[in-house]
Amino acid sequence: MTLNTQWALQWIRNCQKEVHANRDYLIDLDREIGDGDHGENLDRGFTAVVTSLETTETPDIAAVLKLVAKTLMSTVGGAAGPLYGTAFLRAAGKCAKEELEPADVAEFIEGGLGGIQARGKATTGEKTMVDVWTPALEAAKAAAANGASAVETLEAAALAARAGAEATLEMKATKGRASYLGERSIGHLDPGSVSSAIIFEQAVKAAKA
Ligand code: ADP
Ligand code: MG
Ligand code: MG
Repeated sequence: MTLNTQWALQWIRNCQKEVHANRDYLIDLDREIGDGDHGENLDRGFTAVVTSLETTETPDIAAVLKLVAKTLMSTVGGAAGPLYGTAFLRAAGKCAKEELEPADVAEFIEGGLGGIQARGKATTGEKTMVDVWTPALEAAKAAAANGASAVETLEAAALAARAGAEATLEMKATKGRASYLGERSIGHLDPGSVSSAIIFEQAVKAAKA
């Protein structure tokens, strides 16, 4: 599949399904180093997003992602709501075309990462979703520069995203709620990093459907 409006819609529907399937897992991860609401918050958010998509005209990729941003912002709450909301909003700003090419994939990830950092002021190594979006962006840029197709670029980003999420296990949190635990945050996966990896993987799955 090409990365067009149909892809964007399928991506978001996949996110809802997969976040729902991982609801309890994300809750458990957040219970270990946070307040245990991440799975519930995101499940509620993506369910609301799918409902909004059913009742709103979204003629292009940017419109889909803007609606996702707006709905997540108003339904997820906590840290993740504004972070993902801003990520999707800034990503939408980079998608003003019918179909994404390899370099556009890197651009829209860059937009998302920029949104997360504008909101949360985190840098790499602080055990947050920035540790997923940053390697995803680097992998996408490298793939695009090496002549990968748009879908291959997305795939490279998703692989790096998952590896980034796994690498948070050994990190000490210095941002967000998990930072209250200090050293005791080490040895646990960051929930927002795991949900970010899921979101990237669903983009690939939608592209290969
Ligand atoms: P809350 O901590 O308010 O309950 P959630 O549980 O929904 O919010 O989300 C927690 C996730 O948000 C963390 O796992 C982390 O990935 C992400 N996060 C928290 N603070 C920041 C930040 N400053 N920058 C980037 N991501 C952050
Ligand atoms: Mg939480
Ligand atoms: Mg909370």
